[in-house]
Amino acid sequence: MSTFKAPKGTYDLLPPDSAKFLAVREAIAAPLRNSGYGYIETPGFENVELFARGVGESTDIVTKEMYVFETKGGDRLALRPETTAPVLRAVLEANLHKAGNLPVKVWYSGSQYRYERPQKGRYRHFSQVGAEAIGTEDPALDAELIILADQSYRALGLSDFRILLNSLGDQECRPVYRDALQDFLRGLDLDEETLRRAEINPLRVLDDKRPDVQKQLTGAPLLRDYLCDACKAYHEEVRELITAAGVVFEDDPKLVRGLDYYTRTTFEFVHDGLGSQSAVGGGGRYDGLSEMIGGPSLPSVGWALGIDRTVLALEAEGIELDIPSATSVFAVPLGEEARRILFAKVTELRKNGVAADFSYGGKGLKAAMKAANRSGARYALVLGERDLAEGVVQLKDMESGEQAAIGVNEIVAELESRLGRRIFG
Ligand code: AMP
Repeated sequence: MSTFKAPKGTYDLLPPDSAKFLAVREAIAAPLRNSGYGYIETPGFENVELFARGVGESTDIVTKEMYVFETKGGDRLALRPETTAPVLRAVLEANLHKAGNLPVKVWYSGSQYRYERPQKGRYRHFSQVGAEAIGTEDPALDAELIILADQSYRALGLSDFRILLNSLGDQECRPVYRDALQDFLRGLDLDEETLRRAEINPLRVLDDKRPDVQKQLTGAPLLRDYLCDACKAYHEEVRELITAAGVVFEDDPKLVRGLDYYTRTTFEFVHDGLGSQSAVGGGGRYDGLSEMIGGPSLPSVGWALGIDRTVLALEAEGIELDIPSATSVFAVPLGEEARRILFAKVTELRKNGVAADFSYGGKGLKAAMKAANRSGARYALVLGERDLAEGVVQLKDMESGEQAAIGVNEIVAELESRLGRRIFG
């Protein structure tokens, strides 16, 4: 085993590609910040119990995919496989739901860990941006979240995605459906594990991707036909609100998700350029989760969008994000005295908000100009011995190749004005 190899199913985000991930994160976060969602950050691990109770004892995530460990103090913890249960835990712990301002709207961004079989688009460590609106039952809230996710993807330039929508019913109508589905599943030719799953969590069998199972599922009873009047009316209103917002979606009566806590509105964003790992994001209502983890009734809705797969979706659509170069000015000193003067100028430029970098390690002109080029800076500042004697510095426009001598004391004002001109007009 090489020390320099990332663990199986993981990869590192490295510059310059990492800039894409930051841009995606920002594109998803911006509409949330703009819509009353506050930033929340919870630990990367929680008591294992939280996920067992919250996500569900019969889900793959809990039974097969969690990284569980015992601390030296004897606590049983799990690296978080998802962040909805932790966010709800944090809100309950801090009593945010009692502050008289419901819904509590929060967004998060961070690492998730699942011990899955790695393949393209499926990793053991991945990142999500998520949003949760806690403590209110209102179809407009479900609609808001779907509209915001759609807006994020569109802002990134994505178009080859679809929104699948379903209602999973509530504690009144779902049990009736569950029984009907179980009866149906018992009559099928299924392997032992699947039959066992049909007893514990029959809805999840609908999600089985194997063609032989899918074939047998034609004719399975659909939740749609079992929804109670309240769930039907709720769902209809969500559909109307997102339609009115111009968001296109598909009704998918078979859509269920891999976590037990969902009720009513359930949705998934799938991208058609991604092959088998096509879900780029998903979410829904989880009215029962708070009670499942020991809290009061807090009807809530949320989603999580995968950053890794969103980046893959951008690649699949051939979208190059317009990411401005991080560095605007690159300083090249030739000699000791020049180094001290230019280093001070770089510090001053940075203080004034100009993104500047410096040629380190005493490079010669040729190597230093190469570094300037690589940095993507629009301007290079070159200070040689003759310039020093004359009190000037060479300012080179890396785009046009034009070069002019300016006074050392004019550096900051000149660059601010040139870069300002570039930004504002
Ligand atoms: P989930 O928490 O399972 O509802 O997943 C929400 C989103 O997280 C998915 O739509 C994916 O974009 C992403 N995701 C889930 N599992 C993985 C994984 N193993 N690797 C990469 N992304 C994932």
